[in-house]
Amino acid sequence: MDSHSSMNLRLPPGRLEERFHEKKPLYDEHEALTEANRCLYCVDAPCVTACPTKIDVPTFIHKVATGNVRGAARTILTENLLGESCGQVCPVETLCAGACVYNAWERPPIQIGRLQHYAVTTAIANKPDLFELAPETGKTVALVGAGPASIAAAGWLALRGHRAVVFEKKTIPGGLNTLGIAPYKMKGDAALKEIAWVLGLAKGRIELRLGVDVVAGAAGAEEVSAAALLADYDAVFLGLGLGADSAMGVPGEDGEGVVGATAFIERLKADPALTLDGVQRAIVVGGGNTALDAVHELASLGVAATMVYRRSEAKMPGYAHELAAARVDGAGLVEDRAPIEVVRASGKLVALRVAPAKDGKPVGGAAPEDLPADLVIVAIGQNRATQIAQAFAGVALDPKGRVVVDPATHRTGNAKVWSGGDCVNGGKEVVNAVAEAKVAVLAIHSTLMGAN
Ligand SMILES: Cc1cc2nc3c(=O)[nH]c(=O)nc-3n(C[C@H](O)[C@H](O)[C@H](O)COP(=O)(O)OP(=O)(O)OC[C@H]3O[C@@H](n4cnc5c(N)ncnc54)[C@H](O)[C@@H]3O)c2cc1C
Ligand code: SF4
Repeated sequence: MDSHSSMNLRLPPGRLEERFHEKKPLYDEHEALTEANRCLYCVDAPCVTACPTKIDVPTFIHKVATGNVRGAARTILTENLLGESCGQVCPVETLCAGACVYNAWERPPIQIGRLQHYAVTTAIANKPDLFELAPETGKTVALVGAGPASIAAAGWLALRGHRAVVFEKKTIPGGLNTLGIAPYKMKGDAALKEIAWVLGLAKGRIELRLGVDVVAGAAGAEEVSAAALLADYDAVFLGLGLGADSAMGVPGEDGEGVVGATAFIERLKADPALTLDGVQRAIVVGGGNTALDAVHELASLGVAATMVYRRSEAKMPGYAHELAAARVDGAGLVEDRAPIEVVRASGKLVALRVAPAKDGKPVGGAAPEDLPADLVIVAIGQNRATQIAQAFAGVALDPKGRVVVDPATHRTGNAKVWSGGDCVNGGKEVVNAVAEAKVAVLAIHSTLMGAN
């Protein structure tokens, strides 16, 4: 177990992630001023409505344009404490920038994400103490998981005067924000730097306990039980995320060369021992954003990478702009094919056997085809690892395994337990996890202060 309240977190050198360049590097001052001055400061700005955390976009951009970068950062971070990450990883094309009025005139929308990244990173670099802490309340909240939902919640709780203890089963904090985001958007070290900033802001009020699994029954070494959290803390926040990668369920799947997408991306980002030596051809199974990230990352690393999707391109759940970007970097797509077997020779992976598919299912009797591969990445979704939530008496899961909350407060069926992020919404974006954490923190705070 590793316990931190301030830290200089860094990933080890020699990772494949380090070979990537950011596609949207940090603006310099001239670029930021030029872009900020394009903004029309719309009344009832659609970019604000489109932001899940409701950042006052025209106000922060106006502050950037007038040289008030610190004020701009405060405007952003008041609504979204992880605004530095979100400026880099948000799918702005489908959120704020996608709603910008410039689109209607077929002109490029304001680069809101890049301006946000510029404002927050510049302000933190100049003077990290952007907010004052409220006096200590004497209350302590336990947070399960150290993903963006819990990190944002812990930061906001600390600013309001509470202590926060975050339990994370992995030894690296940040959840998928550190270990899942495509490296051409943001590297793991940037996510860790942001966590270190939140810890610094909290001035010792947040404790990160890494390598500690929260479990249902009696706790062993490096574990803590749900019952102990309920007994020992004033409130609990569950930021559990999703679970392990789902499997295809086809013959030959178990064995060397076939790996789940999030497990593979985690190693690519954090494990210097991962190499792609001997991998010339890779197949990525799936049609969502994780599949798109995996195929794009492999293609960028020089592997002949092809995505195999069981429906047509038009029906892919992944973003069209991400597919277009992956194609620019050499990724291929095979549509309307479903995997039916992993073909091995003497145990070694040689191909993925696929059949023509209709409505996402292999067509019986149709001639299969072998797609040669040295690596198969399975990106067809993540299992739910939310059963632990039920160890907190009264917390319920819906039929899809998501933690049930009151949407107005994010409180669960246990009056002492709140929840947010992927484990509640089923898997969205970092900004949604932060938005839900914000709702939960407001409710936790008023409950702890006796208003509810
Ligand atoms: C490959 C991939 C790429 C993505 N790219 C983007 C992107 O570009 N932009 C974007 O906005 N979003 C992206 N997302 C989605 C985004 O990362 C998630 O929505 C976000 O991280 C959810 O935050 P969270 O805190 O709810 O969960 P997570 O980030 O999953 O964090 C949950 C944490 O809880 C820990 N945990 C779980 N159970 C326990 C337990 N019992 N005890 C202790 N710890 C526990 C886990 O180890 C984990 O660290 C991506 C997701 C994936 C899979
Ligand atoms: S919609 Fe576009 S132009 Fe209008 S305030 Fe938002 S970013 Fe500026």
